[in-house]
Amino acid sequence: MKKVVKFGGSSLASAEQFVKVGNIIHADEDRRYVVPSAPGKRFDKDTKVTDMLYACYALAEKDHNFNAEMAQIEKRYQEIIDGLKLDLDLTPEFDKIIDNFKKKAGSNYAASRGEYLNGIIMANYLGYEFVDPAEAIRFNEAGVFDAELTHKLLSKRLENVERAVVPGFYGAMADGTVVTFSRGGSDITGSIVAKAIQADVYENWTDVSGFLIADPRIIDNPKGIDIITYGELRELSYMGATVLHEDAIFPVRKEGIPINIRNTNSPEDEGTWIVGHTCQKSKYTITGIAGKKGFASINIEKDMMNSEIGFGRKVLQVFEEYNISFEHMPSGIDTLSVMVHQSEFVDKEQNILSGINKAVSPDNVDIQSDLALIAVVGRCMKSQRGTAGRIFAALAHANVNVRMIDQGSSEQNIIIGVSNDDFEAAIQAIYSIFVETRI
Ligand code: ADP
Ligand code: ASP
Ligand code: MG
Repeated sequence: MKKVVKFGGSSLASAEQFVKVGNIIHADEDRRYVVPSAPGKRFDKDTKVTDMLYACYALAEKDHNFNAEMAQIEKRYQEIIDGLKLDLDLTPEFDKIIDNFKKKAGSNYAASRGEYLNGIIMANYLGYEFVDPAEAIRFNEAGVFDAELTHKLLSKRLENVERAVVPGFYGAMADGTVVTFSRGGSDITGSIVAKAIQADVYENWTDVSGFLIADPRIIDNPKGIDIITYGELRELSYMGATVLHEDAIFPVRKEGIPINIRNTNSPEDEGTWIVGHTCQKSKYTITGIAGKKGFASINIEKDMMNSEIGFGRKVLQVFEEYNISFEHMPSGIDTLSVMVHQSEFVDKEQNILSGINKAVSPDNVDIQSDLALIAVVGRCMKSQRGTAGRIFAALAHANVNVRMIDQGSSEQNIIIGVSNDDFEAAIQAIYSIFVETRI
């Protein structure tokens, strides 16, 4: 068996955490490919090394002095090296990094050094080979990840490597320019490595015992999910359940490699299994709830809209022209709403409104702002009667006004729009009706 093990930032924030990680790896022969993140927070108010690197580079970019900031970063790594009593000197690496900062190597390069340096420490600690993803994880000239070429290069690179450490979060273009994934992207690297070596399992080690039914920052001690499908997970992670990066599903999904989310601080817990298909029913009607704040809805009214061919296309074309992607588009006979991220929309608002007026001459257009979207997800929902009814009864009971409803055609999700202020109360009400009351 071959397993890829990815460890998140909090799992590698200090020497003590490294020791836990070492024990986990040594406890199972099959844990042969290790993907580390940069050191994360050691305590609540701490700063992640990735954020320290971004801040440090922002100074370098403006030609300001960044010695003190870089010294803090060096200290974080040195504490880990000292705590593990390793015979390792990162001074030459830091000299090179400082030099490249002065040459303005870019914020992607800067951020990637967090994983790079942690990878060097990890490889030294475990006695595994260090494989720099800049060699084999490839982005094209536009900075877009090239899945096919990466698979070719990385599987070749790891072909005869028994045990390796491959830092997460970054790769490079053909000319060597470093590119990172978006934040939380080490999860994607883990998945890419799992595909390249055709792993039996991709273990993703973090600071919670698996995927929970709802965000633990909103629900006190939420129940865990034993098994979830890729499809359900994608819906939940896209909608803000940040345990696993939403794009981490793709590389392993086609290969049928299961992901197991585990807790570094509680390794005996089984965690959550993420699989292609399962005949196992979830414990509750719903599998999970997630949501995000900060949406706006542009509501368009026009009599006889339903018979005007091309109406929807013309409206969406206006959003396309201004490079805005839409989240949902609920419609009625004479009404159509387009939901977008408010932060992307706000600067272009007036241009888009006048574009819509020109394109379809509506009777009325208005904007609702500060909306939150909540996804209630579950593969078992379609075979249960009354699921939507229970959601809306629970929301009414909690005094939450529902502003939008959208049911996905897969019938495995119901999306609800509420005001930002009602976000937490709505999630609590839905959790309570399905998990606590369990009627
Ligand atoms: P890592 O640094 O290991 O990659 P992350 O911080 O990216 O970890 O993800 C784990 C965190 O995700 C948890 O600590 C928790 O606060 C948050 N989280 C949000 N939604 C959920 C959920 N539904 N289940 C579990 N954790 C969640
Ligand atoms: N270190 C990066 C971040 O903080 C990537 C990761 O942790 O997955 O976003
Ligand atoms: Mg993460």
